[in-house]
Amino acid sequence: MSKNNCGMIKDLLPLYADSVCSEESRKAVAEHIADCDECRGELEKMGRDIAVAGENDISTIKRIKKRILIEKIVIIAAVLLVVVIPGIIMLNLWFSMDCTMDYEKYNLAENVRVEEDADGNLWLCKKNSAVEAWFIYPDLIDTAGNRLTGENFDRENACAMSFTLKQRRLNAVADSLPLLFEMDISSAEERTMIFNKADKEHIGTLYYYDDVSGTDYVLWERK
Ligand SMILES: [Zn+2]
Repeated sequence: MSKNNCGMIKDLLPLYADSVCSEESRKAVAEHIADCDECRGELEKMGRDIAVAGENDISTIKRIKKRILIEKIVIIAAVLLVVVIPGIIMLNLWFSMDCTMDYEKYNLAENVRVEEDADGNLWLCKKNSAVEAWFIYPDLIDTAGNRLTGENFDRENACAMSFTLKQRRLNAVADSLPLLFEMDISSAEERTMIFNKADKEHIGTLYYYDDVSGTDYVLWERK
């Protein structure tokens, strides 16, 4: 075959490269490129282009996979940001909220008492689960039973005082799950002076005030 067949052979080269031409054409192309550097060059270039196209497919798939991965990461980050992190913060706030120690449930009749020492000072004594709690208020009460927080409170006639024990809700939850949190709480009493003799002159009664049930329990009465 002579050089002037090149145009026809070049038309056949794509079919030849894809192996879809007839047996006759295949033979003609094979014979021609054996002698023709130009057409053989064309064929080799096509082979490279096909290989490059294959690489492009792979890089496209890689790019798509990478994009899917990034989307997943973004979705997970968004869920963390919108749901999990605020959830943890809310739970943390909820657990660190103060709640009243229920007088009956925590057996405060046993675990909290007020003791008067020989000098007339008043001591608050707490034991067991009450040790981890703290007292709030105090709220003064007058002879008519009005509280400091109420409208008709008569400061001149204040005669009693009430306290409430508060603890972290976390402790309250732990206390209500005794099987999971059975801890060896020391039964040693913790003593804090709450009144010295001079301060308590006008106070005749100390109450534990359960602000959930609104009940007063007598802690100490002047004898
Ligand atoms: Zn040729």
